[in-house]
Amino acid sequence: MTDARYGLIEAGGTKFVLGVADETGTLHARERIPTKTPAETLGAAVNWFAAQGADYAGFGIASFGPLDLDPASPQFGCVRPTPKPHWSGANLIARFQERFGVPVAVDTDVNGAALAEALWGAGKGLGSVLYLTIGTGIGGGFCSDGHLLRGLSHPEMGHIRMPRHPEDLDFAGTCPFHGDCLEGLACGPAVIARWGQSLSQLPEGHPGKRIIAWYIGRALATFQTIMEPARIVLGGGVTATDGLLDLIRAEALVANGGYTVGRIDKLITAPGLGDNAGLLGALALALR
Ligand code: ZN
Repeated sequence: MTDARYGLIEAGGTKFVLGVADETGTLHARERIPTKTPAETLGAAVNWFAAQGADYAGFGIASFGPLDLDPASPQFGCVRPTPKPHWSGANLIARFQERFGVPVAVDTDVNGAALAEALWGAGKGLGSVLYLTIGTGIGGGFCSDGHLLRGLSHPEMGHIRMPRHPEDLDFAGTCPFHGDCLEGLACGPAVIARWGQSLSQLPEGHPGKRIIAWYIGRALATFQTIMEPARIVLGGGVTATDGLLDLIRAEALVANGGYTVGRIDKLITAPGLGDNAGLLGALALALR
């Protein structure tokens, strides 16, 4: 063990969580700041890390997307065009490189989480983990033997096209690009756009949970056949809804024709890392 410290950033749409950890994952400091403009938020983050007085070996940033992760691109480490105000084109890494002069790793929050769950969480020792978050948006990362699935950039698993649930044919979906893609049908804002409440607030017997589980279960059956992960870990506010995980497992089993019968409960699970998953994802990125 060394005294090296890593600066960790979990960059989210409403807040940035900052942390200082050693290589074992022990957190020595933690802070959260609101997401405002890039200049305000990244500037405040740099100042906070400087004030901790640590000797940093590197930084890890696990961020909302979409991100430019092509090492040959002049915009590497920048946020790609996004509906989120102020953040299109924002460079996430430059300020940290300039101020601290150490390597800065950046990837999506879901790629960080996939790596962290594979190293220390629900997928420890299994070799391959698909991590999906279903909350404000939907995104996925796939880690196989320590490698993250990537093409020109990170995967966009939330934007696959879906069949329509027979009781849900009229809803146009909330994705600004596709309307009724998976994210446009099953993310938190899509639930509220249809029914005016989150899934956990809907009354007993309301079809909402059943319909959302139907979409997620079908998407998981698709991802499972393409990637054959040893574990599918579901994070995010929507999947934390009481009882939803079991409904999703049942729908995934139907959707894949019983192909995973007998192992569905172990195949599809909740995250193993709890509240620190985002920061541990950033650490996993920094340690690579
Ligand atoms: Zn979409």
